[in-house]
Amino acid sequence: MLRKNRLFTPGPTPLLPAAQTAMASFTAHHRTADFRALFQRVLSDMKEFVGTRNDVLVLSCSGTGVMEASVSNLTSPGDKVLVLTAGKFGERWTGLAKAFGCNVDVLAAPYGATFSLGDIRAKLTSDVRAVFVQATESSTGARHDVQAIAKIVRANGDDTLLVIDAITGLGTTHLDVDGWGVDVIIGGSQKALMMPPGLAYCAVSERAWRRMDATTSPRYYFDLRKERKSAGKGESAYTPATSLFAALGAALEFIRGMGNGDLAKGREVLVDNAELCAEMTRAGAEALGLKLYAASPAAALTAICSPDGVDSGKLVKEFRETFDAVVANGQGEMKGQLFRIAHIGYYDYLDTIGILGALEHVLARVTGKTVEYGAAVGAAQEVYARGLSKRQPVGA
Ligand SMILES: *Cc1c(COP(=O)(O)O)cnc(C)c1O
Repeated sequence: MLRKNRLFTPGPTPLLPAAQTAMASFTAHHRTADFRALFQRVLSDMKEFVGTRNDVLVLSCSGTGVMEASVSNLTSPGDKVLVLTAGKFGERWTGLAKAFGCNVDVLAAPYGATFSLGDIRAKLTSDVRAVFVQATESSTGARHDVQAIAKIVRANGDDTLLVIDAITGLGTTHLDVDGWGVDVIIGGSQKALMMPPGLAYCAVSERAWRRMDATTSPRYYFDLRKERKSAGKGESAYTPATSLFAALGAALEFIRGMGNGDLAKGREVLVDNAELCAEMTRAGAEALGLKLYAASPAAALTAICSPDGVDSGKLVKEFRETFDAVVANGQGEMKGQLFRIAHIGYYDYLDTIGILGALEHVLARVTGKTVEYGAAVGAAQEVYARGLSKRQPVGA
């Protein structure tokens, strides 16, 4: 049968056609009035996409670049920081903070789990200069309770900054950045923005800008104060990935269209879309007797445990070979144990039903067991027909 190549990976995600054509035809030099107009429009729209009044900066790098920038700009060697980790991306925070000489305290939850709020409170002494955490841990599919974590960190006083890697959280999760007092929130182009990799962004609070006046960790390319100054003049400090800015402009217009002309509304619609695709997928997987890996599953992606005795790599391979569908294996120690299906960005009903239909065939082929065809698809259709159900709050 004809096969279409489709990405179901939690980054990079499927590309928005309008973003691709905007990139392909873009030629403007970055020190021109035309580019400045695009750059300024994109930065201002990005505030609405993130949902903040804080400055948003868009840098030419992958998400990890801005994670690094948040460490190098906000800390000095020897600073005590707290990393909350429950997966491979949480571990990245630990590695980054150590690389910049921070005195790193780690609160680790098991893979697939989230944090006990009491444990966070116990770790949060008054000398902690910053807390680093994910909104959604893409390696396990877990959702962390950013609102509750922010409440605890804010109660620790203004000397403790909260930095959120929301690289798969933005556009899939309702996040009240300003209301909750998040100091830095980070996103990437290859996730909910439906674009290729290459841009990453952050919103930065006044508290965090003030911190940067005093910190001494080395930084040059990722000097956020320098970028902020240039952004004020409609430019980036160095050559930006110009064509990706054109793609970003188109992606933001698409999201605005989802909100009937209101970008903030469009963001909410995009989040609800991911939530619904995720809920359909969870119902489908469970209807096939499969277990979910995360106790508090995110809308960005669903991590599904491989059936007992089956290496998930075989399922991933079968998806690829039979349907040209790219789903993600587990990362690191989780390799072989789970597979991950994304809902972040440009996914719709047909994508979701399609991957679940494919999952039924993949399971039958790989396990050799009888699969009740239509079980996963039917369960997902029930969810769709019912509409988005009321969700329980996570964490606690
Ligand atoms: C994709 C992702 C990143 C960034 O990875 P890059 O490869 O540097 O773009 C960071 N954190 C999470 C949670 C992610 O999903």
